[in-house]
Amino acid sequence: MQITAEEMKKSIQKLYNMLEEVTPLDYDCGTLCNEVCCLYDEEDCPNKDLVLYLLPGEELMYENSKYFDLYYIDPKELDYPRSWKDEVFIVECNNPPHCDRKIRPIQCRTFPLIPHITKDGKFHLILDKNEFPYECPIIRDNIPLNEDFIQVTYKVWKILITNPNVHALIQFDSRRRDNKRKGYKIII
Ligand code: SF4
Ligand code: SF4
Repeated sequence: MQITAEEMKKSIQKLYNMLEEVTPLDYDCGTLCNEVCCLYDEEDCPNKDLVLYLLPGEELMYENSKYFDLYYIDPKELDYPRSWKDEVFIVECNNPPHCDRKIRPIQCRTFPLIPHITKDGKFHLILDKNEFPYECPIIRDNIPLNEDFIQVTYKVWKILITNPNVHALIQFDSRRRDNKRKGYKIII
């Protein structure tokens, strides 16, 4: 049965609400790094064109937002699994690190935890410093994440990977990570 846009929006909102209740640390971790994950760009200067990849259905949250510009890309132009045929939506943050936090993407809400699927199919959340071009102090200094943040993030990703595109993408990224053999830390 085809899911309607309204139903899809509701299910994304439910995930946003779950993640709204938790934070990686008990204080704003942006104070540790001057919000580098919002502001970094390749020239190492404030990023006015920060782009975030959305998960399927999240694009519905960004229609008419003054904080974000919404675009789509043909998946053939990206390093994405071949099975992903739908458009890939991205948002650009207009005024980082300020944004409408009520609709910030799942990618931001679950950071710095990363979904990973092992070769034998087990799903984990990991920390991987090789994944980002900047240094996240939580990873660098082994700062323990709040347990409720880990648990809720795990629950949310378990729901997200029921979407075959999301599952394929995580598997694709996980094999690439394994091939790099640079090591990562399993959190759950
Ligand atoms: S997640 Fe890491 S890089 Fe991002 S604001 Fe927190 S400490 Fe900084
Ligand atoms: S959506 Fe908000 S929290 Fe996420 S990177 Fe952009 S400015 Fe930062």
